[in-house]
Amino acid sequence: MKTKRIGFTTSLPVEVLYAAGHFPIDLNNIFLSQDSSAHIHKAELKGFPRSLCSWIKGNFSSALSSDLDEVIGIVQGDCSNSSSLLEMIAEEEIDIYRFSFPPQKEYAALDAEISRLEEHYGVSRKLTLETKAWLDEIRRKLIELDKLCYSDRKVSGRDNHLWLVNSSDFQGDPARFERELDEFLYQARASKPLPTRLRLGYLGVPPIFRDLYDVISEQGGDVLFNEVQRQFSMPHLKQDIVEQYLIYTYPYSVLDRLKDIKEQIQLRDLQAIVAYTQAFCHLQIDNLLLKKHIKLPFLNLEGELPEKLDSRTILRLESFFEVHS
Ligand code: SF4
Repeated sequence: MKTKRIGFTTSLPVEVLYAAGHFPIDLNNIFLSQDSSAHIHKAELKGFPRSLCSWIKGNFSSALSSDLDEVIGIVQGDCSNSSSLLEMIAEEEIDIYRFSFPPQKEYAALDAEISRLEEHYGVSRKLTLETKAWLDEIRRKLIELDKLCYSDRKVSGRDNHLWLVNSSDFQGDPARFERELDEFLYQARASKPLPTRLRLGYLGVPPIFRDLYDVISEQGGDVLFNEVQRQFSMPHLKQDIVEQYLIYTYPYSVLDRLKDIKEQIQLRDLQAIVAYTQAFCHLQIDNLLLKKHIKLPFLNLEGELPEKLDSRTILRLESFFEVHS
């Protein structure tokens, strides 16, 4: 069977794609690793509105520039724009597939959705689970990396973010990803602990800002929890693939996210929260509830374009650190 290059718009049961021998590509990671401003510009030339989330425009142009055979859009449990994005991609003569995290969050409904994905790619559940066991070995190492960040302090918040966010697709090559992770862990274990200053949790989708983690560190903060990125790494290691994607909080209610966040605040002894929201994103509404129910100093940052932090945001961070450090 031909190996297909398959783009996707957010984390999904990537086990199925690897079990089928395909090459999965998280379009968000492609967008940020290439000339992101050019991607946005190209989408706007196609008519995407200025007042639309940059990730959607970036996903669109990344899909067109990545020599893809197919794009999987997560049409329930992710972004309210995904369905329309898929239609635009189909218009460019790239095959599309719709995957849903059923909002009722029931075992049978998600099981049926994963089975439909397996059928589409000609994969048995047995093969999916064998592939999952392989990927879980890598995820186990990411759990160690996370602990080296919040407990041993041998991994920075920025590196924690990068490794976890890239685990959505294992950069298309889990074996290479694992080799590089092994090398990183070997060096991290042997390194001296970093100092711990203000213990921060980062909430929300990964930032579009290029230098947020560097600026936070320069100002005396340490990100010890990357909420959504950690979810992408599937840290619960459930044996059953359906259970794994039921316990994954991001596609479901903000209350599921809140429960996970509160547990991690306790575990990691966090002192303050930096929450990120993307301009023109519906998750800004969920963020209102996070702010209301998390009883820690809470700074909300909004980003729009893939660039360095603007002076106003830097000033807000400075004031926050002055008050809470
Ligand atoms: S940041 Fe929000 S609006 Fe943008 S792609 Fe993600 S979920 Fe959609």
